[in-house]
Amino acid sequence: MPEDKRAIALKRAKTLKSRIDDYLKARPAIPKGREKAKEIKERKERILKLLGGSESDWNDHKWQLKNRIHDVDFLRKVIHLRNDEIDAIRKVDKLFRWAISPYYLSLIDPDEVYDPIKLMAMPTFLEVEDTYEELDPMGEEYTNPAGTITRRYPDRLIINVTNECAMYCRFCQRRRNIGQKDEHTPKNEIQQSIDYIKENPEIRDVLVTGGDPLTLSDRKLEWILSELYAIEHVEYVRLGSRTPVTMPQRITDELVDILKKYHPVFVNTHFNHPMEITAESKEACEKLANAGVPLGNQAVLLNGVNNDKYVMRSLNHELLKIRVKPYYLFHAKAVKGTRHFNTSIDDGIEIMEYLRGYTSGMAIPTYIVNAPGGKGKTPILPEYLVSRGKNTFTIRTWEGEVLQCENHPTMDLKKAIKSQK
Ligand SMILES: *Cc1c(COP(=O)(O)O)cnc(C)c1O
Repeated sequence: MPEDKRAIALKRAKTLKSRIDDYLKARPAIPKGREKAKEIKERKERILKLLGGSESDWNDHKWQLKNRIHDVDFLRKVIHLRNDEIDAIRKVDKLFRWAISPYYLSLIDPDEVYDPIKLMAMPTFLEVEDTYEELDPMGEEYTNPAGTITRRYPDRLIINVTNECAMYCRFCQRRRNIGQKDEHTPKNEIQQSIDYIKENPEIRDVLVTGGDPLTLSDRKLEWILSELYAIEHVEYVRLGSRTPVTMPQRITDELVDILKKYHPVFVNTHFNHPMEITAESKEACEKLANAGVPLGNQAVLLNGVNNDKYVMRSLNHELLKIRVKPYYLFHAKAVKGTRHFNTSIDDGIEIMEYLRGYTSGMAIPTYIVNAPGGKGKTPILPEYLVSRGKNTFTIRTWEGEVLQCENHPTMDLKKAIKSQK
């Protein structure tokens, strides 16, 4: 290679190295579940002792679900709480459901005031102080044509099969559906949803969600899948579940044996922070991936949890390492009791700005703002298109360079081939 070309490449490599220095410096301070295995294990032993459970109980999702923590007197034995925090939790208790699986509780650093896992799981005074009244900003209650369906798009829809979750996230945007009681959708209402799909042949993609559909028994889940896959125009089903994150014990061999029978089945899960990626959640995701289930992640942009360009980059890298493809990053909407989690859209745009180019396209989700009134998911990107002229486009690169691209009309291929002599 001529020396001048090599010199140019070396100079460019030096610049590229400088583009990642800040991230490499910030990365070690981001807590990661797989690096904190020792601390998590110690907390697990302590919680098990308090609950009087065994190792095999811990690994049993039914035990995890039954032993969800929703009592502040128990919680204070595990997490150090001030009196005002205890009072706030008692107040929230009267307004919004809260419950944390023992597993998810073991991820919380009991001494860290701003622990991201604690923010997502434990009620605070901010929920009761919120005076905002909107509980259904997407108008989902106006998009229910039958059963427990939400339909907002031409070819796909959601069926809600339960209001139960392994953990009630403090930022939940559907908290209006989370009552004080766990209620699986009655079979006849699920049947009505299925009948609607049967009668509407343009529906090719069905999202089964809730609540969390993986709180259903294997038997009920299999009934739903078998009914849906029996419909000729249903091409695949997607399960939307946060159990790989909040109760990974749910991903059993029996469950994946069921899913395997119906392929293509997709699972979209919901990791928000690298601390949620542990040995257990890795095992759960790998079990699904090994059964041929493609995994996507739908994160929510949350103030104090992940509205940070380095945390988000690290999260997406950690996800790919456990075979989960970042799919969406949702902008959080204003819902009563959750507004302290809301960020500006600028935060989301900044995060996207520091993904494209800086890291693999594989690690880049689509940033989505839900249009008001349930008018649909709307992708938001930093501006890469500066202006368009007649035969030119002015673009901005990931490094901020403004360049002109030629833009010519697409050739009429049929005409060109026809004119061949
Ligand atoms: C998000 C959503 C979907 C799925 O949208 P995709 O962009 O295909 O992932 C379908 N129906 C409703 C009502 C939704 O809110």
